[in-house]
This record gives sequence, structure tokens and C-alpha cells, in this order.
Amino acid sequence: MGLPILKPNETSALKVRVLGCSGTIARDCRTTSFLIDGDLLIDAGTGVGDLTLDEMRRVDQVLLTHSHLDHVAALPLMVDSVASQRTQPLNIFALEGTIAALKAHIFNDVIWPDFSRIPSVAAPFVRFHTIEIGQVLAFGDKWVEVLPAVHTVPAAGYAVSAGRGAWVFSGDTERNPAFWQRVNQLDVAMLFIETAFSNREKELARRSLHLSPLSLAQELDCIAKDKRYPIYITHTKPAETEMIMSEIQCFDQTLPFGPHVTHDIHWLRAGQEFAL
Ligand SMILES: [Zn+2]
Ligand SMILES: [Zn+2]
Repeated sequence: MGLPILKPNETSALKVRVLGCSGTIARDCRTTSFLIDGDLLIDAGTGVGDLTLDEMRRVDQVLLTHSHLDHVAALPLMVDSVASQRTQPLNIFALEGTIAALKAHIFNDVIWPDFSRIPSVAAPFVRFHTIEIGQVLAFGDKWVEVLPAVHTVPAAGYAVSAGRGAWVFSGDTERNPAFWQRVNQLDVAMLFIETAFSNREKELARRSLHLSPLSLAQELDCIAKDKRYPIYITHTKPAETEMIMSEIQCFDQTLPFGPHVTHDIHWLRAGQEFAL
């Protein structure tokens, strides 16, 4: 299954708001969370804390890439903030291993209440939905495809489309050939891709299954040569961001894409909003 073929007269724009895109926290640095069209959240890192209560209440679906804390930290608190004001459960979509981890380690009645049984099993505040790599989910006029990721725990990326080009997010990943195989088939409007470490820490990046500028360069070399779209770097650590971005700028001017290939690369910032 893949994203549906787009009809030329379909023009609804997808709105992507960056709530958090940092590898960890500090003042003005919030961890991964992207709000799509006001009702769909991709990851629930500390960026969620920037939403007003009213904005938080309007979120109906949370799609998680994986179980790591920087991607789920605000989820338990968010549920607590809005549960009593919602008439429907908050739907949490994630891989089987991610849901198992959330149930075992967070919503376990020790760290936080098991909101999938509160106030009752029949009408809980949250509902967990298991998804699989390659699955396509429909939410109103939006389609979300679950993309593969290569990380230390079960992990996914996502492609989201509302009829025009897709917004694609790598999630946390190291080298990921299956991702490019699929992404090269899509009409990509914009790519968010992680680069968590600088080249100085490339060994740590490799061991923790993240990208560094060196491995990012190899990844970007997998983009089909007839495709070109803006690329936004996410998940940089606050203390390393300048170094990571200068290393990326350096390779994009010199290596290794061949004489006619450069990339349109930007650093992603919290607060940015895109319509595509
Ligand atoms: Zn991770
Ligand atoms: Zn992460």
C-alpha cells in the first residue's frame, strides 16, 4: 500500500507547525513534536508544552516515532491536561514495541496512571492503536504512511499528505536504505531528517543509531537524482548545533554528490510553520 495518487485539482494545504526539534532541552530548546493541521501530533516531546490548553484539547491523534523520552516526554502530562475536557479518547498510534514500552514504563500506575483504563475500560482517556511499517492511515483528508527507521528501539518515520506533496519525517535513524527506496517513489514536498551528532561524535552516533553529517551525506546521496526538495535538519543537540550545521554546509559544497548535485538544506527551528 502506498500514498494515493494525487488528483491535479486537489489543493488542500497541509499545515506543519514545529513545536520542538531539538535533541534535548535548554532554554528555547524543546524536543521533537510537530503539529499537523491542529489535530494531529507527530511525537510528543517537550515542544507540546508550547500549546495552549485549547490547542492541546483539539489534538485527536498522536503518532509516535518511537519510545525514547525526548519523543514522548510530554505525552503523559498532555493527557492529564486535556482528558477531562475531551468527549473522545485521545488516540495514540505507534509500533507494537513502542506501545508495549509506554505501557510498561510510563502508563504503569507507578510513573503515571494507566489512562487507557481511566476513568473506565469502556470509555478511557486514551486509546492505543498498533501500526506497522508500510501501513497507510487516513485521517479526514490526510493520509499518513508509516516509514521504516533504523534505531536502537522499534522506530518509524512518517510521510503525511493532504493531496499535494508529502511532508516526510525520518524519525530517529541511522543509515536507512529502505526509507529511501520508498521516499524516492513519493512526491516529496519537504523532508525533515535528523542529524543528532557532529562528526566529532560520529562513533557515538553510529552506536546509538543516529546520523552525523558524514552519514547524512551518504544518506542524501540516496535521493533519486531527478528529485529536489527542501531538507530541514532536526534533532541537533543545542551545544552542537553550530558545529553540525557548519559540517553539513561544508560537505554540501564539496562532497559527494557529483558535479551537478547540491541540496537545499536548512536548520529547523521551533516555531516555524509550513503550508504545503
Ligand atoms: Zn531515539
Ligand atoms: Zn530522539
